Amino acid sequence: MPTTLVWFKRDLRVHDHAPLAAAAARGAVLPVFLLEPGYWAQPDVSARHWQVLRPALLELRGALGGLGQPLLLRAGEACAVLEALHAQQPFDAVHAHEETGNGWTFARDRAVAAWCRARGIAFRQWRQFGVVRGLKRRQHWVRQWEGLMAEAQIPAPSALTPLGLEPGALPEWPPGLNAPTPVPVLQAAGRASALRCLDGFLHRRGEHYSREMSSPLSAARACSRLSTHLAWGCLSLREAVHAARGRAAELKALPKDQRGQWPRALASFESRLHWHCHFIQKLETEPAIEFHNVNRGYDGLRESDFDAMRFEAWASGHTGWPFVDACMRALVHTGWLNFRMRAMLVAIAAWQLWLHWRQPGLHLARCFNDYEPGIHYSQVQMQSGVTGINIPRMYSPVKQSLDQDPDGVFIRRWVPELAAVPAPWIHEPWKMGSAQQQRYGLKLGRDYPLPLLDHAQAAREARARLAEWRRSQPELSRLNREVLERHGSRRRRVEQRAAPASPQGELF
Ligand SMILES: Cc1cc2nc3c(=O)[nH]c(=O)nc-3n(C[C@H](O)[C@H](O)[C@H](O)COP(=O)(O)OP(=O)(O)OC[C@H]3O[C@@H](n4cnc5c(N)ncnc54)[C@H](O)[C@@H]3O)c2cc1C
Repeated sequence: MPTTLVWFKRDLRVHDHAPLAAAAARGAVLPVFLLEPGYWAQPDVSARHWQVLRPALLELRGALGGLGQPLLLRAGEACAVLEALHAQQPFDAVHAHEETGNGWTFARDRAVAAWCRARGIAFRQWRQFGVVRGLKRRQHWVRQWEGLMAEAQIPAPSALTPLGLEPGALPEWPPGLNAPTPVPVLQAAGRASALRCLDGFLHRRGEHYSREMSSPLSAARACSRLSTHLAWGCLSLREAVHAARGRAAELKALPKDQRGQWPRALASFESRLHWHCHFIQKLETEPAIEFHNVNRGYDGLRESDFDAMRFEAWASGHTGWPFVDACMRALVHTGWLNFRMRAMLVAIAAWQLWLHWRQPGLHLARCFNDYEPGIHYSQVQMQSGVTGINIPRMYSPVKQSLDQDPDGVFIRRWVPELAAVPAPWIHEPWKMGSAQQQRYGLKLGRDYPLPLLDHAQAAREARARLAEWRRSQPELSRLNREVLERHGSRRRRVEQRAAPASPQGELF
């Protein structure tokens, strides 16, 4: 009977798992997850990721064990581990999902492909998202996405042949991890919680999604919160799409006046499942955007101006802009933040603080429970204004504060130094005189920082620098067109229905 090694990566489930199903159909299955020291030492990887991932691995081991062959965990570099496993239990094929990871995993996958080739072992990879490998242009991409989502989900195999190999221990920390320090993990990945999350969102929490997604006060409950489960593959994207479409069909059967806000919410949600792959496709098509600007015409805009002190203040939530600090501290503590506030954090770093996106991007990657390189680098660059195809968005830290947290509830939760400060002062505490500061029990500059700089003046300067840069780069228009051709989305009907203006600000 042929044996297939199924290499689990960021696809920690047995349901709707094409590589596993195909392996089980051809014979015995050796399911393996690799603990690679080289991966855990990367600058975009963190202890939090391991803490989020570990329960999902345990659950997967249980699910595979229930089928007959538990998950094997092996520490070491991929080719060396495969070599050792092959000596122990020969296999003639390796099955995996395609991964659009960071530069390190890309190089590792190539090394594994070469290892397989050298030994005459078939290395077969399946699409796991609506991302298309080898794609150079976006024509027909939407059709391909739809095609994959329209297919039926693949059931888990009914049983696996036990191979009797030592499963290997799940370590407290993976080898190579830079800073194995526990951090709070409020949302771990896992199959059971992914299903609960999906059901809760589609049937109870999600009705006012469109209205409540923007404020960090309401978003944590109103958004689907599926990103962590999707990033680690505890739920397939297709399952989420099918569930949303199933729910929409259910609602359609109801009289219009009983559908509430659900149809709008579901359309917005489905758009975002589409964006998920749209953004990952950018990194898949051009892996180098992890390191350099999507639009090379912006090379040199900020590189020589990196101010480490400003970066530290931003990353630790001590800029002196209360709402910005509250968002950063909430993220550092919980590992999650809503889209608008992620965008604001990056935009503040890029524009007012004039920081190149690479270090802020790495910091956020380490903080996010749901770190997904393709979405992440595309978004970080977009919010930093270096793609050339997105309208640069600058956020005022005060306007966002007034709009999204008018009473200062979110700020008080995450910036306890300001707990006694009422609105409107809490949005701009630097405007308080010393008597007011005393009344509210703090001294600015001692208990809570004064702002790093005048945000409005800094935004004006950033606009001027950008305009000057654009004037000085004659090649920009041509490069913009090239980026648009390579990465620009081709709109589809559902996006147009759900989103009046492209919320990504992309120029089509
Ligand atoms: C600077 C920046 C970095 C980001 N980095 C990541 C990241 O590393 N991983 C990640 O999953 N998302 C990232 N996002 C996108 C978005 O903020 C999160 O997907 C979303 O906040 C997750 O919460 P949710 O699952 O409740 O989302 P929901 O609003 O419920 O959306 C459902 C799903 O759609 C996808 N999605 C939602 N918004 C977007 C978007 N704007 N672009 C692409 N896909 C989207 C996600 O898979 C999400 O789980 C980033 C956004 C910004 C501005």
